[in-house]
Amino acid sequence: MDEALALEGNPPPLAALHGELDVDIVIVGGGYTGLWSALAILDRDPARSIAIVEADICGGGASGMNGGKVHGYWYALGALTPIVGADGALAIARAGSRAQDAIRAFATAPGRDLWWREAGNLRVSTSAAHDHKLDAYVDTAARLGVPDTAVRLSPAEVQAICASPAFRGGAFFPECGAVHPARLARALRAAALARGVRIYEGTPVEDMRGEGDRTVVRTPLGRIVARTGILATNVGLIGHPSVAGRLTLSSSYAMMTEEAPDRLEAIGWSGDEGFSDLRMFLRYFRKTPDGRVLMGTGSGPFAYGDRIASDKLRYDGGSRLRTRAALDKLLPAFADVATAKIWGGPLDISADRYPFVGTVPGSAIHYACGFSGHGVNPTWITGQCLASLALGTKDEWTALPLCTRTVPTLPPEPVRFLGGSLVRRAIMAVEDADEEGRSPPALAGFVASLPKRLGLRIGVR
Ligand SMILES: Cc1cc2nc3c(=O)[nH]c(=O)nc-3n(C[C@H](O)[C@H](O)[C@H](O)COP(=O)(O)OP(=O)(O)OC[C@H]3O[C@@H](n4cnc5c(N)ncnc54)[C@H](O)[C@@H]3O)c2cc1C
Repeated sequence: MDEALALEGNPPPLAALHGELDVDIVIVGGGYTGLWSALAILDRDPARSIAIVEADICGGGASGMNGGKVHGYWYALGALTPIVGADGALAIARAGSRAQDAIRAFATAPGRDLWWREAGNLRVSTSAAHDHKLDAYVDTAARLGVPDTAVRLSPAEVQAICASPAFRGGAFFPECGAVHPARLARALRAAALARGVRIYEGTPVEDMRGEGDRTVVRTPLGRIVARTGILATNVGLIGHPSVAGRLTLSSSYAMMTEEAPDRLEAIGWSGDEGFSDLRMFLRYFRKTPDGRVLMGTGSGPFAYGDRIASDKLRYDGGSRLRTRAALDKLLPAFADVATAKIWGGPLDISADRYPFVGTVPGSAIHYACGFSGHGVNPTWITGQCLASLALGTKDEWTALPLCTRTVPTLPPEPVRFLGGSLVRRAIMAVEDADEEGRSPPALAGFVASLPKRLGLRIGVR
């Protein structure tokens, strides 16, 4: 984010809201969800007046600090099918492909340089216990009639793309790109401003509610009255009564190396493919155009209830070490390349690990949440869904299972936090053991199996 701001000449934050405002639609949150929603609404009805209210600066949340990997749901067909059926899974994956096309078009439009690169993603196995997952991806894609979306790769084919002693076989998913996350957020902000959206930064919303046929937003120094509202506050939604119990608070960590183009050359990684392994708490990586590697891990700690300010969601020492260790393990050629930056941020994990879109009962306030660490592509889809809801249109977007399915509830606190934390530790212990070719501790194996035994969809490997 710092770098993207510097490149833009560090425009000062937009003014905070002072006083009263009347608009058609008010959006709380200036990340990808809020900004894509505003643009989707204006694509369909350019006359709508829209205000976005952002506590920080646009992109100050997860949208400005993510790993920048962009893909939809072809990898998830097998996991989605039991939840929403084969047709639902395919509908979500096709929506992801539309998102990919739209984000590519936005990122590569004349005058924009968002570091868009697109050459697919390799899921690589790093332990014998994971090899069967590669076949399952490819078999599921073939069974559902979309064999081109997942292609099995032999160990030799994987090594030819990027050499690492940690990799076994792989599966190639052609749909995946990479973007500079903060540049995307700032470009969306600029596009929204250019289209007349009023954006107020440095303006925390204290209250948003339906009052009669109006939606009223209160901020420290102002008030907005609108016909419709959108809550696009990501982890800020976790304590909201409408979604309480369907989200849990976790975290993700990422790091960037210093420039090391010679190491990229040494391992033969000349393309722009992205990579991720097959762990439950995923490790993923990609290159940058200036010869760095970004390594991310979804293994950060959970936090209790809705404590989104918890330090461990951003500054957990163990998660930072694990992120660096992931680089050293998966790309040992980078073991002596220095870390340029390492950071963490909170995630909103939904009870079935997929986002959901809904309406606060008795109001015209709509929300999208539960991105579960995968939101760059999906926030475009949910932006379309929110635009339809805000405009009162029933269409292909509101018919998607992201809007229609029932998301299960999680156990209440303190069981959610304590149980989630125990299972997380157990799964990490089992996956470390698998990778090192030893038997996992019996207790860890038992605890790691509990979510499946209890019929949960979260925490299931
Ligand atoms: C470290 C990390 C790595 C990730 N890597 C990837 C990746 O590689 N690929 C991928 O697909 N996804 C990734 N994600 C997830 C992805 O970044 C998110 O799912 C996505 O950015 C969510 O966008 P959003 O607009 O919903 O949320 P945000 O970008 O968090 O925006 C929400 C905004 O709401 C504002 N807000 C909150 N409360 C209020 C309030 N009361 N008043 C006013 N404003 C408020 C916040 O300041 C924030 O700017 C990653 C996430 C993290 C943390």
